[in-house]
Amino acid sequence: TVYTRVGAVTGANKGIGLAIVRQLALQYPNSAYNDGPLLLYLTARNEERGKAALEALQADPQLERARALRSQGGLTDIKYRTLDIDSTESIREFADYLKKEHPQGIDFLINNAGIAMQGFDADVAKKTIHCNYYGTLEATKQLLPHIKDGGRLVNVASMSGNLSSQYSESIRSRFLNAKKPEEISELMEEFITAVAEGRWKKDWPSSAYGVSKAGVIGMTKTIAQQNAQSGSKTLINSCCPGYVKTDMTKGGGAKTPDEGALTPVLLALADIQGSTGDFWQNERKMKW
Ligand code: NDP
Repeated sequence: TVYTRVGAVTGANKGIGLAIVRQLALQYPNSAYNDGPLLLYLTARNEERGKAALEALQADPQLERARALRSQGGLTDIKYRTLDIDSTESIREFADYLKKEHPQGIDFLINNAGIAMQGFDADVAKKTIHCNYYGTLEATKQLLPHIKDGGRLVNVASMSGNLSSQYSESIRSRFLNAKKPEEISELMEEFITAVAEGRWKKDWPSSAYGVSKAGVIGMTKTIAQQNAQSGSKTLINSCCPGYVKTDMTKGGGAKTPDEGALTPVLLALADIQGSTGDFWQNERKMKW
């Protein structure tokens, strides 16, 4: 098959990431983006879990119907690739693979992978920022060059990354006024150090997860602005999926994973009127 559209999703072996792949396959045939056969990369850090998820999807009767719409140009294929966002090497391997398989570039990438650890101390702060912030930053930097001009990049952040409370005025204004991802990384380093030295309370919330997601929102905004300034038409946004029932929320959550997938999928497939550098929730642009 010659695929006219190609997309990839990280952390897609369960939860919202898996639902994003499912919703992409279901919605693509009727989307403004439908331009012929679509290939989706379901990626995961663990091959066994990733392949098991792919098998489950392939047995999904609703998806079977969507895949059968070949005559309407809506055929969707899904393939598995390994991608651990905590590893620069793993991201590079995936980037090299895309370069070889899709030299003209892919259409969209959804960076969904993330962790929420129990407790709050220096180790939790370091590991959470490393995965959620630096992992997403590295995937964004290394994979953006493999997205076609005019394509989409979506980073899944969270409402807990909003700046409305618990940040000092000076930290908040540095987040809001950052022009480069390096400025956001500096903030992340300051947070890790402040936690290690037991003096974070004056400037930061007691949530490594929240700070990591504020970092994702800020980093996405700066990269989108730099990218637009360089003349690229690729649309780069961050979003919150809402409060979703997954392993991460351990029995909590108001939305199903399919409902949580709606905003990330909208940012990949719908006409978003040129929006870039924005933070979205409930299928709308939000104030950060
Ligand atoms: P889950 O814990 O159910 O799923 C997280 C997924 O990310 C898993 O597939 C996990 O893989 C993967 N992952 C974790 N670390 C890495 C890594 N280093 N490399 C690649 N994949 C990795 O969580 P959700 O589905 O709920 O969360 C998905 C995203 O949505 C996250 O970014 C989360 O922060 C965000 N979010 C979720 C909310 C909710 O209410 N659920 C609310 C707001 C944001 P594995 O199975 O191998 O661990």
